[in-house]
Amino acid sequence: MNYYSTNGNAPIANLHKAVVKGLAEDRGLYMPEQIKKLPKAFIDNIQDMRFQDIAYNVASAFFGEDVDLDALQDIVYDTLSFDCPVVKVKDTIFSLELFHGPTLAFKDVGARFMARLLQYFIRQEGQHEQVNVLVATSGDTGSAVANGFLGVEGIHVYVLYPKGKVSPIQECQFTTLGKNITAIEVDGVFDDCQALVKSAFMDEALNQHMKLTSANSINVARFLPQAFYYFNAYARMKAQDKADQLVMCVPSGNFGNICAALFGHAMGLPIKRFIAANNANDVFYNYLQTGKYEPKASVQTLANAMDVGDPSNFARIYDLYGKSHERISSLISGATYSDEQIKEAMRQCYKDTNYILDPHGACGYQALVDGLQEGEVGVFCETAHPAKFKEKVDDILGIDVEIPDRLAAFMKGEKQSVPMTKDFKDFKAYLMKQ
Ligand SMILES: *Cc1c(COP(=O)(O)O)cnc(C)c1O
Repeated sequence: MNYYSTNGNAPIANLHKAVVKGLAEDRGLYMPEQIKKLPKAFIDNIQDMRFQDIAYNVASAFFGEDVDLDALQDIVYDTLSFDCPVVKVKDTIFSLELFHGPTLAFKDVGARFMARLLQYFIRQEGQHEQVNVLVATSGDTGSAVANGFLGVEGIHVYVLYPKGKVSPIQECQFTTLGKNITAIEVDGVFDDCQALVKSAFMDEALNQHMKLTSANSINVARFLPQAFYYFNAYARMKAQDKADQLVMCVPSGNFGNICAALFGHAMGLPIKRFIAANNANDVFYNYLQTGKYEPKASVQTLANAMDVGDPSNFARIYDLYGKSHERISSLISGATYSDEQIKEAMRQCYKDTNYILDPHGACGYQALVDGLQEGEVGVFCETAHPAKFKEKVDDILGIDVEIPDRLAAFMKGEKQSVPMTKDFKDFKAYLMKQ
């Protein structure tokens, strides 16, 4: 499969190049030239299939031309070592729980898949030189990438994070791992971390010294696998005879997750319509209303993993529907919630149903409460385990959220990180010694 850039000014890439480079030369996002429709028989019988096998079928349509099928099956099965169950919350509203992976957030799926696919390409090339992944994080991405790449031979990961600015739980999720994961604690803010990573990619001497790559969230190997769990959710709903008028509601920030769902739809997944649920960052919501896409600075909210003022994957969605506002707004509707509304949604849901929402999932839940029409059944993504945002959730609901064993285990580990200034000279000198 060939991949072109959404900016239309870069050479066509194969999957290998698209995965290793992440972003095209013209800073556009890679898009597959074709989206293959899945056979009707697959959709007809999907309710009888297991998650892993559903995912393997979807993966073959995306990656089957470029990856040996046995290896692909192995990568898919390894990625989906945990379930993404659909749980009834009330009446016609269901929660697609994406938080049963190693770091309790949906980004685990894409991160693990990308790690294994990158390893596959490295081995196929017969490369013996180590590949180094640099990733800047304000919390969530670093933990998912670090855990996804943990123990993957031939790849070393450097996670750069701002000192004192990530939550203690998140920090433990990438500083206690050891092995092929090095945490670098930068005396600065998130933007300084990102600037260090960017400078490293552009530094010639450094690139001659070591092979560098990124694990950015716009990477095709990170975003496409997110389509897997939408097919599975459809299958589980169909098995209960509730899939005829299914509405899929996705709490969105950078719009990678919902974009994967839309790719699934383009492959033939029978979802009636989609809702993109936002916090107070309402750029996409406004686009749906006005047809004008006007990025702005992000504002901080309770659902901080969705604090994005210029969602990168908008370019993919725009392209997928031939840049037509009409097509986009007839398939996708929007919702936007203030922190107060998020808190109220969490309280009301807990009171009515006993289900504990995290602030991100709460946007999705509320958008279904507000937007579901007669005859429709809604599924929202619960994108993170409430314990990941324990202080907030405890405070809002007046409860003591139980911390899953997996999360508690991270907190017992020994924190190890390399202190670093925000001066590129120091970072470069450090990498040159590795
Ligand atoms: C990353 C993230 C989101 C937003 O997902 P996008 O793909 O960026 O739209 C939502 N919730 C949580 C908990 C996340 O970590």
